[in-house]
Amino acid sequence: MRDLQKERLAMVEEQLRKRDIVDHRVLKAMAKIPRQSFVPADYQSFAYEDRPLPIGEGQTISQPYMVAIMTQSLEMKGDERILEVGTGSGYQTAILAELCRLVFTVERIPALIQKARVTLQELGYRNILFLDGDGTKGWPKKAPFDGIIVTAGAPEIPETLLSQLAEGGRLVIPVGPRYTQTLYKVTRKGDHFKKEEITGCVFVPLLGDYGWKE
Ligand code: SAM
Repeated sequence: MRDLQKERLAMVEEQLRKRDIVDHRVLKAMAKIPRQSFVPADYQSFAYEDRPLPIGEGQTISQPYMVAIMTQSLEMKGDERILEVGTGSGYQTAILAELCRLVFTVERIPALIQKARVTLQELGYRNILFLDGDGTKGWPKKAPFDGIIVTAGAPEIPETLLSQLAEGGRLVIPVGPRYTQTLYKVTRKGDHFKKEEITGCVFVPLLGDYGWKE
């Protein structure tokens, strides 16, 4: 029988620590969360491979390294309120819930958010609020956020999300053409937004009013 816990720790060493993941809180959370709980039964034995996996509805759970680098870029210390756009399986949501005070997660596909909610409740998370809708609009009633993470590829950075960042807040978002993007970190300083490139990436499209049109 496979030892998935052993595979998870090997994933952290080989895929994260040997690359550029240095935030020990991120490494600890990735070593703790059972990624296999977030993928369909047929894919559980592949849970710690270095790649995204299908989760149904034409969507994917991101590669572990991509989850780690995006999370590290948010620079969380523990007391933050974080908005996640694109709940998907809920795996990234669980990592965030380990590392900040409150997670606000938005997903446009009802079947996915319902499943993620059950998985996250079963794992014992109580610091996550769920919204079924278009995350390109953000979550204005709950803004501002110390961090915003978008887990789908946008044609450009939505102004709606920039305006919901708190002072000093970070937005992490893949931006670019439909089939290949660049991951950016945008930091708010007053009315100025500092934009840094992190890495190349490939995400499913961010569909919505301020994303790609369906
Ligand atoms: N972070 C997720 C995980 O750990 O499983 C992976 C997310 S998947 C790569 C991207 C998700 O973004 C999909 O579930 C998709 O339905 C969702 N999405 C796309 N456009 C969206 C929008 N406008 N609002 C909310 N969710 C959206």
